[in-house]
Amino acid sequence: MVAPMQQHETPERYFVARRFHESLMRSQWLGAAKIMAYQESQLQQMLHHAASEVPYYAEPLSRLRRADGTFDLSRWDELPIISRSDVAADWEAFQARNLPPGHEGIISVTTSGSEGKALELRKTRFEHTGVACASYRYADWFGYDYKIPLAMIRSGFIRPADPNDPEDRLWGPPWLDAATRGARHRLPISAPLDAQIDWLAGLGRVYLNTLPSNAMALAQRSEARGVKLQIAAIMAVGERLSADVRDEVLRVLGCRISDVYATAEAGLIAIECPDTGAYHLQSEISKVEVIAGDGHVCNPGEMGHLVATSLYNFAMPLIRSRFNDLVTLGAGCPCGRGLPVISKIHGRESGFFHLANGRSLVPEFSTRRIREITGVSFWQILQTAPAAVTVRLQSAPQPSESQRLSLSQYVQETLGAPVMVTIQTVDKFPTTKGGKFYPAMRTF
Ligand SMILES: [Zn+2]
Repeated sequence: MVAPMQQHETPERYFVARRFHESLMRSQWLGAAKIMAYQESQLQQMLHHAASEVPYYAEPLSRLRRADGTFDLSRWDELPIISRSDVAADWEAFQARNLPPGHEGIISVTTSGSEGKALELRKTRFEHTGVACASYRYADWFGYDYKIPLAMIRSGFIRPADPNDPEDRLWGPPWLDAATRGARHRLPISAPLDAQIDWLAGLGRVYLNTLPSNAMALAQRSEARGVKLQIAAIMAVGERLSADVRDEVLRVLGCRISDVYATAEAGLIAIECPDTGAYHLQSEISKVEVIAGDGHVCNPGEMGHLVATSLYNFAMPLIRSRFNDLVTLGAGCPCGRGLPVISKIHGRESGFFHLANGRSLVPEFSTRRIREITGVSFWQILQTAPAAVTVRLQSAPQPSESQRLSLSQYVQETLGAPVMVTIQTVDKFPTTKGGKFYPAMRTF
C-alpha cells in the first residue's frame, strides 16, 4: 500500500518529503486498481475538508455524502466542472476558512495570464512537496544527474532564489548532500535570445528547463551563430512538444528532450514515459479525467478536454478544473508502471486544422523539410479558412517560384488535402504574454 503523505514529528527536516518520494518510487509499479484505491482514500480526505471549509463546495458535496460521512465517488461526475473564469468570478468562495494540522504553510502563485486575466492561486507547502516529489520521480525515470546544474528559462512563476533558503540555490531532493547537488540558475524567458545563448554558454554543461518553442529558437539561433551549447538534456514544459522540436533539438544540440504536463492549478499532472513516450498520470497527487465535448467521461482512445483535481491543495481546492488542452487517454503502458497514461497530447483546439473535407488534424510540419525547400528555419503556418493556409517565413528573402510551388505541395501533402497556400515573409512572429509561440494554428 502507498504511504499517505502525513506530517510527522521528526528532527529530520525533510522526513515527510523523503518518505513520500520513496513511496512514489514504489507505488508506480503497483497495479492500476491499487493506485486508484490509494487515490480514492486521499480524495475522500480532501472532499471531507472541502465540504466543511470551502464555501463553493458545501452544497455540491453535500449531495454526494453518504450516511457514514464518506462521499459516493460513483457520482463524481455530478460535481461541477470549473474553468479559470469561474474561479476568478467567485475567488473568495474557493478559499478554505481553516486548514488541518500540517497543511498550514501557504504559497501564493499568480498565473502568467497568457490566456485571460492573471489569477492568484493559493497552495499549501504540503501540496508543493508532493509535486516536488513527483518531479524527483521524473528525474529518476530519465536518469538525470543532480550534480549537473539546471538552467531554467521560464515565464510566469519564475522567481529569484529564496535568500532565506540556502538550498533553493541547488536543485534536486533537499535531503541529498549539498555536495551532490548542482546549482539552479534562473533567467526570464523575456530575455533576448542572444542574451539567453550567452548566458547558457557561460554556464557550461547544464540541463535546460524551458518551453519547447524556446528550445527550438535556442537551437536554431545558436546554430546560426556557430555557438556550440553544452546541453546535457532539455526538460520541456508549458507547451505542446512536437516531433519537430524533438528532431531539431537532437540535430542541433545533440541531446534528448523530455516532457511533462503541468498546470498552475493542479501542478504536475503527467510525465512522459521514458520507455514509450506516452504520458503517465501522477495519480498519487492528482486525479485526472478526460471529458468529451458533450460532457461524458472519455474511455481510452477517446479525445477530450483534460480535467484535473489536486489531492493535496487544502488551501484552495479546485475540484474538476478544466483546461484548454485536448488529450487522448491510453489503455495502459507496456513499461510496467501502473500509472494510467495519456497516449497523446493534442494541445489547444486552435491547433487543429479543420479541413473542407471534414477531417481535423494537428499537422506535424517539419522544420527540416521547410528548410530544405526554402532555406528558412523560422516559420509559422496558419489555417485561415477551410481551404486556405498562410505560410509565414521569418526574415527571409522572397522565395522563388519553384520554392513557392514546392512549399505549397509540401503543406498540402502534410494536410492530406488540397488548400490554397499563401506565402508571406515577416520580420518577427508574435508570442503570447507568457512567452508562448504557436507554430501551427487555426485563426478562423
Ligand atoms: Zn510507461
